[in-house]
Amino acid sequence: MNPCPPNPSPEHIASCEECSVAAVVAPWMKRFASLNERQHILPHPSIVWLKAQVLRSSSEAARASRPMTYVQFFAYGLVASGWAALLTWKWEAIQELLRPFNATNIASGSFSVSSVPMFGALMLLATVTVTLALHTILAEE
Ligand SMILES: [Zn+2]
Repeated sequence: MNPCPPNPSPEHIASCEECSVAAVVAPWMKRFASLNERQHILPHPSIVWLKAQVLRSSSEAARASRPMTYVQFFAYGLVASGWAALLTWKWEAIQELLRPFNATNIASGSFSVSSVPMFGALMLLATVTVTLALHTILAEE
C-alpha cells in the first residue's frame, strides 16, 4: 500500500480510491462542522444562576442535617439489633407469650400474659420501631 500524502495532488486523487472518496465527503464534512444549530437552546444566565443558588442551599441543608442522619442510622441499627436480640434470646418466652392469643383461649376468657417484663420489652421495642418509622416518613416530607 502506498501512503497517501496529507495534501494529495489532483493526479493522486484521481488514481487513489481512498483519497477520491475523502475528496467527495470533505465539502459535506466542512459544512456540517460549521453548522451552529443546537438541539437544546441554552437557558438564560439568570436561570442558571438561580438554579445554582437553589442547589447550593439544598446541599447546605443536606450537610446541616448529616449528624441527624447518623443518629437516625444509629437508631435503625439499635432497633434492629434489639429485635434480633429479643427474638434470638427470648424465642421460647415469645412463643409462650403468644400462645394465649389463640382463638380458644380468647373465647374461653383464659387470656393471660405469662411474662410481664417480656411483654413490656416487646411493647417498648414495637413502640420505638413505630416511632422511628413515623419519624423517618415525616422527616422525608
Ligand atoms: Zn491516496
